[in-house]
This record gives sequence, C-alpha cells and structure tokens, in this order.
Amino acid sequence: MINLNRRFFLQGMSLSLLPIGAAVSAKENRNLFSTISINKEDVLLIIDVQNDFCPGGSLAVKDGDKIIEGINTVQKSFKNIILSQDWHPSDHSSFYTSHEGKEAFSTIQMPYGEQTLWPPHCVIGSKGAEFHSKLALSGARMVIRKGFRREVDSYSAFWENGRVSPTGLEGALKTMGIRRVFVCGLALDFCVAYTAVDSALAGFDTYVIVDLCKPVNLPGTVEATFKAFNKHGVKKILLID
Ligand SMILES: [Zn+2]
Repeated sequence: MINLNRRFFLQGMSLSLLPIGAAVSAKENRNLFSTISINKEDVLLIIDVQNDFCPGGSLAVKDGDKIIEGINTVQKSFKNIILSQDWHPSDHSSFYTSHEGKEAFSTIQMPYGEQTLWPPHCVIGSKGAEFHSKLALSGARMVIRKGFRREVDSYSAFWENGRVSPTGLEGALKTMGIRRVFVCGLALDFCVAYTAVDSALAGFDTYVIVDLCKPVNLPGTVEATFKAFNKHGVKKILLID
C-alpha cells in the first residue's frame, strides 16, 4: 500500500480500496483511500461485456457501455486478463421463451434451485453474443464461455448455477499462481456478484471494481449483492482517474 498522489493516478495503477460503509460518491475525497499496486499474481476478470448486455441489446443493462473505457484503462495495469462470455443455445432453459406461459424476469424452480427467466440473449454465434466492439481484447489470455449447456445457466465464471459443475477457471487461476482476483463488467448484481463470491470461496483475495460494473437492478438485487460481498469478504474498490 502506498499513499495516493496525482502522478500515481496518471500511471493507470489507480485501484483504490473503498472504506467499508462509504458511498461510491466518496470517490471525490481521495484522502479516504489507499492504493493497490497490481502485480503478476493478480488477474482482472472482465465479465460479459457483450452486445446484448449493452444499450441496443436484448438484455440491455442501463449504461452498460459506459464502463468500457474505464475497463480498457484498467487493463493496462494487468499482466493477466481473462474474459467471460455468456454463450447460450437458442432454446436455453434460462430464456422465458423456453417455458410456455412464463414471462421475462419471472422465476422458475430448476433442479439446481431458483432461476430468473431472461429474454433470449447471447445466443451462440449471434451478434448479441459478441464482445462490444469498444472493448479492448488483445490483452486477454483466455475466454471462459458459460451457459452453453441447455439445461443449466451459469452466472458465475467459476461454477454453473447450483455449483455442481465447474467451468475450469479456478484450476486455471491456481496453476497460473494467481492470488488476487479483480472483477468488473456486467451485470453487477448477477454475473459479477456470483463470480466474485465464488472467487472468494475458492480462496482468492477478491475485489470488485464497483465503478466498472453496472447492475440489472431487479428489486433487491443490488442490496443482496453488497450483503453477499460483506458476508464473503469480497472487497469493493474504485478506479480513480
Ligand atoms: Zn445468460
């Protein structure tokens, strides 16, 4: 940890711990923060920055595209970058259209637990499943695709829903010697939330860069996310620019 100074911000290494209980607007008061230096044992996980989750997409997150510039900036600080990509067959069980009489954003009981039903999105091979064209991709060493099995959704980049089958990310990070995981992307209250909690449960020191995420914001989902972060020791941080 070192103290913040202007030059340090400009070097693009400006990830800062958000004090517990502080509002995101506390960003203005830089004295509240201590700065984190990024090293080779750190990984940046960029969750689902795909066309369908951005304005104009079939499951658009409000201002989902506004975080991309910041994500590109923070990528410059990391040697290890991994992308996740939601990747569904067209009849995927998480789509409301796969369940007669069900509406979008209602829930259904699946063998692995409760599942929110979504508008069809990120269909394999579609434009909507592609990464947003503004997202820098060249630094990423790996893409984790998730949700490609019809019968099970996968919010987390570590485990399919129900935590029965792993994606392989945990093993990859451990063989890479990763100790700290930094998560950003879409959407804060679903795929980012589940990924960050699973990362902490896997034993990684886990940080969510909250100003580089946007939520779907269904009733109560953001509150539940922050509660889960506190419960599992996931730290909230900000990118100061
Ligand atoms: Zn999905």
